Amino acid sequence: MAFEGLTERLQNAMKKLRGKGKISEADLRDTMREIRLALLEADVNFDVVKDFVKTVRERAVGAKVLEGLNPAQQIVKIVDEELTKTMGETEVPLNKAPKIPTIIMMVGLQGAGKTTTAGKLANHLKTDENARPLMIAADVYRPAAIDQLVTVGKQIDVPVFEMGTDTDPVEIVRQGLAKAEEDHNDYVFIDTAGRLQIDEQLMDELARIKELAHPNEIMLVVDAMTGQNAVATAQGFNDKLDVTGVILTKLDGDTRGGAALSIRAVTGKPIKFVGEGEKMSDLDVFHPDRMASRILG
Ligand code: GDP
Repeated sequence: MAFEGLTERLQNAMKKLRGKGKISEADLRDTMREIRLALLEADVNFDVVKDFVKTVRERAVGAKVLEGLNPAQQIVKIVDEELTKTMGETEVPLNKAPKIPTIIMMVGLQGAGKTTTAGKLANHLKTDENARPLMIAADVYRPAAIDQLVTVGKQIDVPVFEMGTDTDPVEIVRQGLAKAEEDHNDYVFIDTAGRLQIDEQLMDELARIKELAHPNEIMLVVDAMTGQNAVATAQGFNDKLDVTGVILTKLDGDTRGGAALSIRAVTGKPIKFVGEGEKMSDLDVFHPDRMASRILG
């Protein structure tokens, strides 16, 4: 990840205050205007920017930053804390079932990185906790999607349950879950179908799978590089499915940062992991505080 533009603009906005023993109302107003523009330029949601700037300003005034020592330092600290808060404060762990298997339903638009990310997360759990996951291929619309999941499964040595493209996805999931029960798998990943955009028919199918599987986690996979579209997608999926977590992919190619900074605030749902490359090992737990530090540079 390299949100260079945002980092540079935020640093510049606050640099002007450095060295000043006292800052004026006008200095604060200018700084807040520049922070606001920096965030909008980074494609952060308009309402999120508005709230962010309002809170930082109120805190700066409340803390009597204008009269205190090192005003620049204090503002940087407030901005850092508020960026962290906007992204969710602390990391949120995976929801686990009290009794195995933990069922993780992967949803998202086509190309967002669902299949790759199912593999990455299965691999992460294998490495981290010696888990024995099973992945279910429930995208019956694209034969290539099943092949891709099978390939990923081989790569990380995780079994894939598939029934080709002629069976109803809900039935595939039913049989896949029975198989996991039989084999005592501790995690089950359901790789669902995606479309190029949100459509009613797909949402109905996902809702039917949710109803059958009672997943512990409905993990929405969104492409960070699509900025505000990623935010709109997240809202759309969340409205229909009440997702439990978000994985932000392709952060390695995201130069702006708008999705990372908006999704939590807009949907109320935590970003749990981020994808930062194409390799199976390129998945990280999302830490809002570390991300805020990275953004501030
Ligand atoms: P799906 O249609 O949602 O299942 O998406 P895929 O899993 O097929 O991923 C689409 C493309 O995005 C593939 O070429 C992946 O290798 C790539 N991809 C997925 N996650 C990441 C990521 O975090 N970083 C990068 N650079 N590429 C990714």
